[in-house]
Amino acid sequence: MKKPIIAIDGFSSTGKSSISKIIAEKLDIVHLDTGALYRAITLFAIENFMSEKGVDIENLILNLGKIHLEFKNENGEMRLYMNGENVSQKIRSPKVSEYVSQIARQKEVRDFLLKIQRKMAENRGIIMDGRDIGTVILPNADYKFFLTASVNERAKRRFLELSEMGIETDLKTVTENLIARDKTDSEREISPLKQAEDAILIDNTNLDKQQTIDLILSKIEKF
Ligand code: C5P
Repeated sequence: MKKPIIAIDGFSSTGKSSISKIIAEKLDIVHLDTGALYRAITLFAIENFMSEKGVDIENLILNLGKIHLEFKNENGEMRLYMNGENVSQKIRSPKVSEYVSQIARQKEVRDFLLKIQRKMAENRGIIMDGRDIGTVILPNADYKFFLTASVNERAKRRFLELSEMGIETDLKTVTENLIARDKTDSEREISPLKQAEDAILIDNTNLDKQQTIDLILSKIEKF
């Protein structure tokens, strides 16, 4: 039986990645968290091309070819390696979150990652989560979902997640970052965050992780 290709898009902190990870295990397919790729490029920019005025985007674009990204499965956990270094933890820092949407709106960055994402999805069942998977990266996906939830609920979830990772922050900063990223992501010219016409909309403000997973699986099993 052919394994499914599933696109999960939506707003920040709707649980896309953790939900996709569990669905991937259940369906025995690969999970790809595409946000991690944008975060890795942002980390590369912060580490190499930071000036007083912020990230030197021009220089970053000139040096995109020096970035090698690879996911490795280590004891069931997907780890992201950038130029041989495991950056899975570093890419979650508030500083990366602060700059990532500014970097993700650059055409050259999106073109660079488009190729990488399509290559990673070749010839296999996959669940990819991000912002433009159903609209741009995998427009022919077998199933598409678009996740949303209230800002307050999402900020609470992100804050808890960061606290559990030992990253110090406060609810106000997290909320402001979510709102700013959603705005930049939705309003950007290239591949903006939006629901694909054929995507199923799920508002999980009042659903927990398991309930969201069950809802998604119920739609997949029905086809
Ligand atoms: O999913 P996550 O919140 O980690 O994504 C970080 C950022 O990466 C998003 O706010 C967005 O700017 C960018 N992104 C994107 N397209 C994707 C995935 C993430 O532009 N497919």
